[in-house]
Amino acid sequence: MLNKKSVDDINVKGKRVLVRCDFNVPLIDGKITDENRLVAALPTIKKLINDGGRVILCSHLGKPKGEPKPELSLAPVAVRLSELLGQEVKFAADPEVVGPNAKAAVEAMQDGDVILLENTRYRAEETKNGEVFSKELASLCDVFVNDAFGTAHRAHCSNVGVTKFVDTAVVGYLMEKEIAFLGNAVNNPTRPFVAILGGSKVSSKISVIENLLDKVDVLIIGGGMAYTFAKAEGGSVGNSLLEEDYCDYALKMKEKAAARGVKLLLPVDNVIADAFSNDANTQIVKTGAIPDGWEGLDIGPESAKLFADAVKEAKTVVWNGPMGCFEMPNFAAGTKAVAEALAETDAVTIIGGGDSAAAVNQLGYGDKMTHISTGGGASLEFLEGKELPGVAAANDK
Ligand code: AMP
Repeated sequence: MLNKKSVDDINVKGKRVLVRCDFNVPLIDGKITDENRLVAALPTIKKLINDGGRVILCSHLGKPKGEPKPELSLAPVAVRLSELLGQEVKFAADPEVVGPNAKAAVEAMQDGDVILLENTRYRAEETKNGEVFSKELASLCDVFVNDAFGTAHRAHCSNVGVTKFVDTAVVGYLMEKEIAFLGNAVNNPTRPFVAILGGSKVSSKISVIENLLDKVDVLIIGGGMAYTFAKAEGGSVGNSLLEEDYCDYALKMKEKAAARGVKLLLPVDNVIADAFSNDANTQIVKTGAIPDGWEGLDIGPESAKLFADAVKEAKTVVWNGPMGCFEMPNFAAGTKAVAEALAETDAVTIIGGGDSAAAVNQLGYGDKMTHISTGGGASLEFLEGKELPGVAAANDK
Protein backbone atom coordinates (compact mmCIF):
# COMPACT_ATOMS: atom_id res chain seq x y z
CA MET A 1 0.00 0.00 0.00
CA LEU A 2 1.28 3.43 -0.92
CA ASN A 3 1.68 5.51 2.21
CA LYS A 4 1.27 8.85 0.43
CA LYS A 5 -1.57 11.35 0.47
CA SER A 6 -3.67 11.29 -2.66
CA VAL A 7 -6.27 13.47 -4.35
CA ASP A 8 -8.85 11.76 -2.12
CA ASP A 9 -7.22 13.30 0.97
CA ILE A 10 -7.49 16.97 -0.03
CA ASN A 11 -10.15 19.63 -0.60
CA VAL A 12 -9.45 21.57 -3.79
CA LYS A 13 -12.62 23.70 -4.02
CA GLY A 14 -11.63 27.13 -5.35
CA LYS A 15 -7.94 26.23 -5.16
CA ARG A 16 -5.31 26.39 -7.89
CA VAL A 17 -4.10 22.82 -8.39
CA LEU A 18 -0.94 22.17 -10.37
CA VAL A 19 -1.03 18.63 -11.77
CA ARG A 20 2.15 17.07 -13.14
CA CYS A 21 1.00 14.61 -15.80
CA ASP A 22 2.95 12.46 -18.22
CA PHE A 23 1.84 13.76 -21.60
CA ASN A 24 5.07 12.60 -23.24
CA VAL A 25 3.21 11.06 -26.20
CA PRO A 26 4.59 10.12 -29.62
CA LEU A 27 3.89 12.85 -32.19
CA ILE A 28 4.24 12.55 -35.96
CA ASP A 29 3.71 15.81 -37.88
CA GLY A 30 1.84 17.27 -34.89
CA LYS A 31 -0.50 14.25 -34.66
CA ILE A 32 -0.61 12.13 -31.51
CA THR A 33 -0.03 8.51 -32.56
CA ASP A 34 -0.63 6.87 -29.16
CA GLU A 35 -2.91 8.60 -26.66
CA ASN A 36 -2.81 6.00 -23.87
CA ARG A 37 -1.01 8.39 -21.56
CA LEU A 38 -3.67 11.07 -22.08
CA VAL A 39 -6.49 8.63 -21.39
CA ALA A 40 -4.68 7.36 -18.29
CA ALA A 41 -4.52 10.91 -16.88
CA LEU A 42 -8.28 11.58 -17.18
CA PRO A 43 -9.56 10.11 -13.87
CA THR A 44 -7.47 12.50 -11.74
CA ILE A 45 -8.26 15.51 -13.93
CA LYS A 46 -12.01 14.76 -13.86
CA LYS A 47 -11.99 14.30 -10.09
CA LEU A 48 -10.30 17.71 -9.60
CA ILE A 49 -12.73 19.42 -12.01
CA ASN A 50 -15.74 17.86 -10.24
CA ASP A 51 -14.39 19.00 -6.87
CA GLY A 52 -14.24 22.63 -8.11
CA GLY A 53 -10.47 22.96 -8.43
CA ARG A 54 -8.75 25.27 -10.90
CA VAL A 55 -6.75 22.67 -12.74
CA ILE A 56 -3.35 23.66 -14.13
CA LEU A 57 -1.78 20.76 -16.05
CA CYS A 58 1.91 20.48 -16.86
CA SER A 59 4.18 17.90 -18.49
CA HIS A 60 7.32 17.47 -20.51
CA LEU A 61 7.31 16.27 -24.11
CA GLY A 62 10.40 14.80 -25.72
CA LYS A 63 13.79 16.42 -25.29
CA PRO A 64 13.78 20.09 -26.34
CA LYS A 65 17.01 20.45 -24.32
CA GLY A 66 16.09 23.58 -22.40
CA GLU A 67 14.79 25.80 -25.19
CA PRO A 68 11.51 26.30 -27.03
CA LYS A 69 11.12 23.88 -29.96
CA PRO A 70 7.81 24.40 -31.76
CA GLU A 71 7.66 20.74 -32.87
CA LEU A 72 7.72 19.74 -29.18
CA SER A 73 5.00 22.15 -28.05
CA LEU A 74 2.20 20.65 -25.97
CA ALA A 75 -0.40 22.58 -28.02
CA PRO A 76 -1.70 19.42 -29.83
CA VAL A 77 -2.16 17.74 -26.44
CA ALA A 78 -4.44 20.57 -25.25
CA VAL A 79 -6.61 20.09 -28.34
CA ARG A 80 -6.95 16.32 -27.86
CA LEU A 81 -7.44 16.61 -24.10
CA SER A 82 -10.30 19.08 -24.67
CA GLU A 83 -11.99 16.44 -26.85
CA LEU A 84 -11.39 13.63 -24.38
CA LEU A 85 -12.65 15.67 -21.40
CA GLY A 86 -15.55 17.28 -23.26
CA GLN A 87 -14.49 20.69 -21.97
CA GLU A 88 -11.99 23.28 -23.06
CA VAL A 89 -8.38 22.81 -21.99
CA LYS A 90 -6.91 26.25 -22.59
CA PHE A 91 -3.31 26.13 -23.78
CA ALA A 92 -1.16 28.67 -21.93
CA ALA A 93 1.40 29.18 -24.71
CA ASP A 94 4.49 30.64 -23.10
CA PRO A 95 8.13 30.13 -24.08
CA GLU A 96 9.14 30.57 -20.42
CA VAL A 97 6.49 28.02 -19.36
CA VAL A 98 5.72 30.13 -16.26
CA GLY A 99 5.93 33.55 -17.97
CA PRO A 100 3.45 36.43 -18.33
CA ASN A 101 1.03 34.46 -20.54
CA ALA A 102 0.84 31.50 -18.19
CA LYS A 103 0.41 33.75 -15.14
CA ALA A 104 -2.38 35.70 -16.84
CA ALA A 105 -4.12 32.48 -17.87
CA VAL A 106 -4.02 31.19 -14.26
CA GLU A 107 -5.24 34.57 -12.96
CA ALA A 108 -8.30 34.37 -15.23
CA MET A 109 -9.33 30.85 -14.16
CA GLN A 110 -12.70 30.01 -12.62
CA ASP A 111 -13.45 26.95 -10.48
CA GLY A 112 -13.55 23.82 -12.67
CA ASP A 113 -11.47 25.39 -15.48
CA VAL A 114 -8.51 23.52 -16.97
CA ILE A 115 -5.39 24.95 -18.56
CA LEU A 116 -2.24 23.29 -19.87
CA LEU A 117 1.20 24.88 -19.50
CA GLU A 118 3.89 24.63 -22.20
CA ASN A 119 6.49 21.80 -22.25
CA THR A 120 8.36 22.03 -18.94
CA ARG A 121 11.60 21.00 -20.67
CA TYR A 122 11.60 24.29 -22.59
CA ARG A 123 13.34 25.39 -19.38
CA ALA A 124 16.92 24.21 -18.94
CA GLU A 125 16.56 23.95 -15.14
CA GLU A 126 13.72 21.43 -15.38
CA THR A 127 15.91 18.33 -15.65
CA LYS A 128 18.43 19.75 -13.16
CA ASN A 129 15.78 20.14 -10.47
CA GLY A 130 16.75 23.83 -10.19
CA GLU A 131 15.29 26.06 -7.50
CA VAL A 132 14.23 29.04 -9.63
CA PHE A 133 11.93 27.12 -11.96
CA SER A 134 10.66 24.94 -9.08
CA LYS A 135 9.64 28.12 -7.20
CA GLU A 136 8.00 29.60 -10.29
CA LEU A 137 5.90 26.48 -10.75
CA ALA A 138 4.97 26.48 -7.06
CA SER A 139 3.94 30.15 -7.26
CA LEU A 140 1.15 29.21 -9.68
CA CYS A 141 -0.65 26.91 -7.27
CA ASP A 142 -2.02 26.23 -3.80
CA VAL A 143 -1.82 22.46 -4.12
CA PHE A 144 0.42 20.15 -6.15
CA VAL A 145 -0.60 16.74 -7.53
CA ASN A 146 1.91 14.36 -9.08
CA ASP A 147 0.25 11.91 -11.47
CA ALA A 148 3.22 11.42 -13.82
CA PHE A 149 4.31 7.84 -13.20
CA GLY A 150 6.36 7.85 -16.42
CA THR A 151 8.68 10.50 -14.93
CA ALA A 152 8.60 9.30 -11.33
CA HIS A 153 12.13 7.84 -11.55
CA ARG A 154 13.54 11.31 -12.25
CA ALA A 155 13.98 14.20 -9.81
CA HIS A 156 13.02 17.25 -11.87
CA CYS A 157 11.55 20.66 -11.00
CA SER A 158 8.02 19.80 -12.08
CA ASN A 159 7.70 16.60 -10.06
CA VAL A 160 10.18 16.90 -7.17
CA GLY A 161 11.64 20.44 -6.87
CA VAL A 162 8.20 22.06 -6.82
CA THR A 163 7.15 20.04 -3.75
CA LYS A 164 9.67 21.93 -1.60
CA PHE A 165 7.77 25.16 -2.16
CA VAL A 166 4.16 24.02 -1.69
CA ASP A 167 2.43 23.02 1.55
CA THR A 168 0.41 20.24 0.01
CA ALA A 169 1.87 17.71 -2.43
CA VAL A 170 -0.13 14.54 -3.14
CA VAL A 171 -0.24 11.78 -5.76
CA GLY A 172 -2.99 11.24 -8.33
CA TYR A 173 -5.02 8.13 -9.22
CA LEU A 174 -2.70 6.98 -12.01
CA MET A 175 0.32 7.06 -9.74
CA GLU A 176 -1.61 5.09 -7.10
CA LYS A 177 -2.79 2.56 -9.67
CA GLU A 178 0.67 2.00 -11.17
CA ILE A 179 2.29 1.47 -7.78
CA ALA A 180 -0.53 -0.81 -6.64
CA PHE A 181 -0.33 -3.09 -9.69
CA LEU A 182 3.45 -3.22 -9.95
CA GLY A 183 3.91 -3.43 -6.19
CA ASN A 184 1.40 -6.24 -5.73
CA ALA A 185 2.78 -8.23 -8.64
CA VAL A 186 6.36 -8.01 -7.42
CA ASN A 187 5.98 -8.10 -3.65
CA ASN A 188 2.85 -10.13 -3.16
CA PRO A 189 2.46 -12.27 -6.29
CA THR A 190 0.11 -15.16 -6.73
CA ARG A 191 2.51 -17.98 -7.64
CA PRO A 192 3.96 -19.24 -9.87
CA PHE A 193 5.42 -15.80 -10.66
CA VAL A 194 7.13 -15.51 -14.05
CA ALA A 195 9.13 -12.45 -15.11
CA ILE A 196 10.10 -11.94 -18.74
CA LEU A 197 12.97 -9.58 -19.52
CA GLY A 198 14.09 -8.55 -22.98
CA GLY A 199 15.65 -5.59 -24.71
CA SER A 200 19.13 -4.82 -25.80
CA LYS A 201 21.59 -4.87 -22.94
CA VAL A 202 22.41 -6.94 -19.88
CA SER A 203 24.21 -3.94 -18.40
CA SER A 204 21.03 -1.85 -18.22
CA LYS A 205 19.00 -4.66 -16.60
CA ILE A 206 21.46 -5.93 -13.97
CA SER A 207 19.64 -4.51 -10.97
CA VAL A 208 16.30 -5.79 -12.27
CA ILE A 209 17.67 -9.29 -12.76
CA GLU A 210 19.18 -9.30 -9.27
CA ASN A 211 16.07 -7.96 -7.58
CA LEU A 212 13.73 -10.30 -9.45
CA LEU A 213 15.85 -13.39 -8.75
CA ASP A 214 14.83 -12.97 -5.10
CA LYS A 215 11.16 -12.89 -5.96
CA VAL A 216 10.23 -14.94 -9.04
CA ASP A 217 9.76 -18.65 -9.67
CA VAL A 218 10.78 -18.41 -13.32
CA LEU A 219 12.94 -15.76 -15.00
CA ILE A 220 12.86 -15.63 -18.79
CA ILE A 221 15.59 -13.68 -20.58
CA GLY A 222 15.23 -12.95 -24.30
CA GLY A 223 16.19 -10.16 -26.69
CA GLY A 224 19.72 -8.92 -27.32
CA MET A 225 20.65 -9.66 -23.68
CA ALA A 226 20.50 -13.39 -24.26
CA TYR A 227 23.59 -13.46 -26.53
CA THR A 228 25.86 -12.45 -23.66
CA PHE A 229 24.57 -15.51 -21.78
CA ALA A 230 25.11 -17.70 -24.87
CA LYS A 231 28.68 -16.45 -25.30
CA ALA A 232 29.38 -16.93 -21.58
CA GLU A 233 28.52 -20.59 -22.00
CA GLY A 234 31.06 -20.93 -24.78
CA GLY A 235 28.66 -20.58 -27.72
CA SER A 236 29.35 -18.63 -30.89
CA VAL A 237 27.18 -15.56 -31.35
CA GLY A 238 28.55 -14.09 -34.63
CA ASN A 239 27.82 -10.37 -34.84
CA SER A 240 24.98 -10.47 -32.30
CA LEU A 241 24.71 -7.87 -29.56
CA LEU A 242 27.30 -8.87 -27.01
CA GLU A 243 28.68 -7.35 -23.84
CA GLU A 244 31.88 -9.35 -23.31
CA ASP A 245 32.48 -7.64 -19.97
CA TYR A 246 29.25 -9.13 -18.65
CA CYS A 247 29.90 -12.78 -19.51
CA ASP A 248 31.13 -13.54 -15.98
CA TYR A 249 28.15 -11.76 -14.57
CA ALA A 250 25.84 -13.86 -16.76
CA LEU A 251 27.38 -17.07 -15.38
CA LYS A 252 27.03 -15.77 -11.82
CA MET A 253 23.37 -15.01 -12.42
CA LYS A 254 22.85 -18.58 -13.64
CA GLU A 255 24.46 -19.91 -10.46
CA LYS A 256 22.43 -17.54 -8.31
CA ALA A 257 19.20 -18.64 -9.98
CA ALA A 258 20.07 -22.30 -9.40
CA ALA A 259 20.96 -21.62 -5.75
CA ARG A 260 17.61 -19.89 -5.20
CA GLY A 261 15.58 -22.55 -6.97
CA VAL A 262 14.59 -20.08 -9.69
CA LYS A 263 14.16 -21.55 -13.16
CA LEU A 264 16.15 -19.38 -15.61
CA LEU A 265 14.90 -19.80 -19.17
CA LEU A 266 17.04 -18.61 -22.06
CA PRO A 267 16.36 -18.92 -25.81
CA VAL A 268 17.19 -22.33 -27.29
CA ASP A 269 17.05 -21.12 -30.89
CA ASN A 270 17.33 -17.80 -32.72
CA VAL A 271 16.32 -16.08 -35.94
CA ILE A 272 19.59 -14.88 -37.40
CA ALA A 273 20.23 -12.44 -40.24
CA ASP A 274 23.20 -11.61 -42.47
CA ALA A 275 22.59 -7.85 -41.96
CA PHE A 276 20.76 -5.57 -39.51
CA SER A 277 17.91 -5.07 -41.94
CA ASN A 278 14.36 -6.29 -42.40
CA ASP A 279 15.34 -7.40 -45.91
CA ALA A 280 18.35 -9.44 -44.79
CA ASN A 281 18.59 -13.18 -45.47
CA THR A 282 17.51 -15.17 -42.42
CA GLN A 283 17.77 -18.64 -40.96
CA ILE A 284 16.94 -20.33 -37.67
CA VAL A 285 19.79 -21.84 -35.68
CA LYS A 286 20.29 -23.30 -32.22
CA THR A 287 21.56 -20.99 -29.49
CA GLY A 288 25.34 -20.73 -29.46
CA ALA A 289 25.65 -21.82 -33.10
CA ILE A 290 25.56 -18.50 -34.93
CA PRO A 291 28.05 -18.46 -37.84
CA ASP A 292 30.44 -15.55 -38.45
CA GLY A 293 28.83 -12.74 -40.39
CA TRP A 294 25.36 -13.44 -38.96
CA GLU A 295 23.55 -11.90 -35.99
CA GLY A 296 20.62 -12.96 -33.84
CA LEU A 297 17.70 -10.56 -34.16
CA ASP A 298 14.86 -12.57 -32.63
CA ILE A 299 14.20 -15.66 -30.56
CA GLY A 300 13.33 -18.72 -32.65
CA PRO A 301 10.04 -20.68 -32.72
CA GLU A 302 11.18 -23.32 -30.19
CA SER A 303 12.10 -20.60 -27.71
CA ALA A 304 8.79 -18.84 -28.32
CA LYS A 305 7.00 -22.10 -27.45
CA LEU A 306 9.18 -22.66 -24.39
CA PHE A 307 8.42 -19.16 -23.10
CA ALA A 308 4.70 -19.38 -23.95
CA ASP A 309 4.46 -22.71 -22.08
CA ALA A 310 6.04 -21.10 -18.99
CA VAL A 311 3.46 -18.31 -19.20
CA LYS A 312 0.66 -20.91 -19.33
CA GLU A 313 1.80 -22.29 -15.96
CA ALA A 314 2.02 -18.84 -14.34
CA LYS A 315 -0.45 -17.05 -12.09
CA THR A 316 1.45 -13.73 -12.24
CA VAL A 317 3.52 -12.48 -15.19
CA VAL A 318 5.56 -9.28 -15.42
CA TRP A 319 7.05 -8.43 -18.83
CA ASN A 320 9.60 -5.75 -19.69
CA GLY A 321 11.50 -5.57 -22.99
CA PRO A 322 11.07 -7.06 -26.47
CA MET A 323 12.33 -10.52 -27.46
CA GLY A 324 13.98 -9.22 -30.62
CA CYS A 325 14.17 -6.29 -33.01
CA PHE A 326 10.39 -6.14 -33.17
CA GLU A 327 10.46 -2.79 -34.97
CA MET A 328 11.37 -4.81 -38.07
CA PRO A 329 8.42 -7.08 -38.99
CA ASN A 330 10.65 -10.03 -39.91
CA PHE A 331 12.06 -10.08 -36.37
CA ALA A 332 8.83 -9.43 -34.45
CA ALA A 333 7.53 -13.01 -34.18
CA GLY A 334 9.12 -13.75 -30.79
CA THR A 335 7.77 -10.57 -29.19
CA LYS A 336 4.39 -11.28 -30.78
CA ALA A 337 4.35 -14.84 -29.42
CA VAL A 338 5.04 -13.61 -25.89
CA ALA A 339 2.33 -10.94 -26.22
CA GLU A 340 -0.10 -13.62 -27.45
CA ALA A 341 0.74 -15.93 -24.55
CA LEU A 342 0.04 -13.11 -22.11
CA ALA A 343 -3.20 -12.22 -23.88
CA GLU A 344 -4.42 -15.83 -23.62
CA THR A 345 -3.67 -16.51 -19.95
CA ASP A 346 -5.97 -15.83 -17.01
CA ALA A 347 -2.94 -14.95 -14.89
CA VAL A 348 -2.32 -11.42 -13.64
CA THR A 349 -0.36 -9.80 -16.50
CA ILE A 350 1.63 -6.63 -15.95
CA ILE A 351 3.36 -4.94 -18.88
CA GLY A 352 6.22 -2.70 -17.80
CA GLY A 353 5.76 0.15 -20.26
CA GLY A 354 8.11 1.13 -23.08
CA ASP A 355 8.59 -1.25 -26.02
CA SER A 356 6.58 -4.11 -24.52
CA ALA A 357 3.60 -1.82 -23.95
CA ALA A 358 3.90 -0.49 -27.51
CA ALA A 359 4.06 -4.05 -28.88
CA VAL A 360 1.02 -5.19 -26.89
CA ASN A 361 -1.00 -2.16 -27.96
CA GLN A 362 0.04 -2.39 -31.61
CA LEU A 363 -1.05 -6.03 -31.67
CA GLY A 364 -4.45 -5.06 -30.26
CA TYR A 365 -4.02 -6.98 -26.98
CA GLY A 366 -4.20 -3.88 -24.78
CA ASP A 367 -7.52 -4.79 -23.14
CA LYS A 368 -6.40 -8.38 -22.53
CA MET A 369 -3.73 -7.35 -19.99
CA THR A 370 -4.34 -6.74 -16.29
CA HIS A 371 -2.21 -3.60 -16.36
CA ILE A 372 -0.06 -1.82 -18.92
CA SER A 373 2.26 0.63 -17.23
CA THR A 374 2.58 4.14 -18.68
CA GLY A 375 6.23 4.28 -17.62
CA GLY A 376 9.03 2.21 -19.17
CA GLY A 377 12.00 3.64 -17.25
CA ALA A 378 9.94 4.16 -14.09
CA SER A 379 8.58 0.62 -14.04
CA LEU A 380 12.08 -0.73 -14.65
CA GLU A 381 13.42 1.19 -11.65
CA PHE A 382 10.45 0.00 -9.64
CA LEU A 383 11.34 -3.58 -10.63
CA GLU A 384 14.88 -2.86 -9.42
CA GLY A 385 13.36 -2.27 -6.01
CA LYS A 386 14.29 1.41 -5.97
CA GLU A 387 12.27 4.18 -4.37
CA LEU A 388 10.99 6.54 -7.06
CA PRO A 389 11.86 10.19 -6.24
CA GLY A 390 8.60 11.46 -7.77
CA VAL A 391 6.62 9.32 -5.34
CA ALA A 392 8.89 9.90 -2.33
CA ALA A 393 8.41 13.68 -2.64
CA ALA A 394 4.65 13.56 -1.95
CA ASN A 395 3.30 14.13 1.57
CA ASP A 396 3.06 11.04 3.78
CA LYS A 397 -0.38 9.91 4.95
P1 AMP B 1 15.89 -1.71 -24.21
O1 AMP B 1 15.78 -0.23 -24.42
O2 AMP B 1 17.15 -2.14 -23.56
O3 AMP B 1 14.66 -2.30 -23.54
O4 AMP B 1 15.98 -2.35 -25.64
C1 AMP B 1 14.94 -2.26 -26.59
C2 AMP B 1 15.56 -2.43 -27.94
O5 AMP B 1 16.26 -3.67 -27.97
C3 AMP B 1 14.56 -2.49 -29.08
O6 AMP B 1 14.72 -1.34 -29.86
C4 AMP B 1 14.95 -3.74 -29.84
O7 AMP B 1 15.00 -3.55 -31.24
C5 AMP B 1 16.33 -4.05 -29.31
N1 AMP B 1 16.67 -5.48 -29.43
C6 AMP B 1 15.97 -6.51 -28.95
N2 AMP B 1 16.55 -7.66 -29.31
C7 AMP B 1 17.65 -7.35 -30.04
C8 AMP B 1 18.64 -8.10 -30.71
N3 AMP B 1 18.61 -9.43 -30.70
N4 AMP B 1 19.62 -7.43 -31.35
C9 AMP B 1 19.64 -6.10 -31.35
N5 AMP B 1 18.73 -5.32 -30.74
C10 AMP B 1 17.73 -5.94 -30.10
